[in-house]
Amino acid sequence: MVAVKSVERPTMECETEHFLMAQRQLDEIALEMGLAPELHERLRYPKRALIVTVPVRMDDGTVKTFTGYRVHHDTTLGPAKGGLRYHPEVNLGEVSCLAMLMTWKCALMGLPYGGAKGGIRVEPWKLSQGELERLTRRYTSEIINLLGPDKDIPAPDMYTNEQTMAWIMDTYSINVGHTVPSVVTGKPVSIGGSYGRHEATGRGVAFCVRRAVEHCGIKTKNPTVVVQGFGNVGAITAKLLHQTDYKIIAVSDVHGGIYNPDGIDIPRLNAYVTEMGKVEGFTGSKPISNSDMLELECDVLVPAALGGQITKANADRLRCKIVVEGANGPTSPEADIILHQRGITVVPDILANAGGVTVSYFEWVQGLMHLFWTEDEVNSRLEQIMGRACDQVFELSAKSGLRPRMAALRIGVSKLAEAKKLRGLYP
Ligand code: NAD
Repeated sequence: MVAVKSVERPTMECETEHFLMAQRQLDEIALEMGLAPELHERLRYPKRALIVTVPVRMDDGTVKTFTGYRVHHDTTLGPAKGGLRYHPEVNLGEVSCLAMLMTWKCALMGLPYGGAKGGIRVEPWKLSQGELERLTRRYTSEIINLLGPDKDIPAPDMYTNEQTMAWIMDTYSINVGHTVPSVVTGKPVSIGGSYGRHEATGRGVAFCVRRAVEHCGIKTKNPTVVVQGFGNVGAITAKLLHQTDYKIIAVSDVHGGIYNPDGIDIPRLNAYVTEMGKVEGFTGSKPISNSDMLELECDVLVPAALGGQITKANADRLRCKIVVEGANGPTSPEADIILHQRGITVVPDILANAGGVTVSYFEWVQGLMHLFWTEDEVNSRLEQIMGRACDQVFELSAKSGLRPRMAALRIGVSKLAEAKKLRGLYP
């Protein structure tokens, strides 16, 4: 692998382990495809990164300050696009890494966007609804110069949702003096959101599961699936797969997991989670830890919670045939290689979870046109785009011997490199 370290460019603040992982992936594919060094070097770092202090009046009258981030990795192909995450482990490196992944993801899917990501370092579960609203509005106002439907369009990510997007949209609109629905995506349908957006990421993941099962020639009548994380992505993936012939044998959330080799009744589990707030204790299932569930024998493993779940420490013990990455960055580069050598197909995050940004794109387009589509239209366009990207990645991977992640990256990076070359360097 190349060690591209320029003497003129000392270590940057974003170069955490997380960020270096994304950079190493780029380095690997840059070497493989013979990317021009000046293009490679430009793509290794964020275009811009903003760190803000966000003071919030708490319910007890005191003021607490939080740290917020917004990073644009690249904007060559269009406005920056990426989610907003509330989590205590958010830092500049993580946000920069995720912004870079967004650049590759949008390019791979053929969407006219650059890559962005944002986050606030906070334990959102400790805040009241009023505190969350004030946090979101103040953060929006602190980063407002970066935002806009032609500049940067946030969307939900971990521990943010439709309500968060509604607050951002409202704060931005009040500041510019008129309503601008297209400044965010993933907002409620009643204020310009798109049908199908809420389910889009899970729908895309479920689509990739089916495509990968077909691609790998798995002929079982009811392929077995393990899903880590039972939030927006995990729960919807499980629901949609359960509706077809798949058997979901284990799911988990932050509190722990449940296992039933005969298959979990997902609609009943959903009702249970709505009532109890967790999957633990669901009738007919055995408890299982988040780490043990990753090692269960199954056809498909869907990590749909945090990054860094499959590493060189456990990659040897996985007993699935396919990994479909619902979460961003769940597999380390070392683990990716181990899984490949073991014949386990990994459908990478920039493909598997791209359903969310794809329908975000539809939402943005509908908002700009003031013309709205039916849910069937949204879903069939989504399947068209996901299908094309899956075919391209599997085809290139088979032809070149590249791991699917590297094939996906190569397609994304090639599109960007061509666009950068054509646009040239200003001034
Ligand atoms: P979410 O907040 O709706 O759900 C997260 C789930 O993960 C919850 O069930 C939570 O309990 C669980 N979880 C948290 N910590 C865990 C741990 N240590 N072990 C096991 N489970 C844990 O978030 P989401 O929107 O479903 O996002 C999940 C992942 O998918 C993230 O990596 C996110 O970046 C990625 N993603 C989300 C979208 C989207 O549209 N929501 C799009 C692309 C990628």
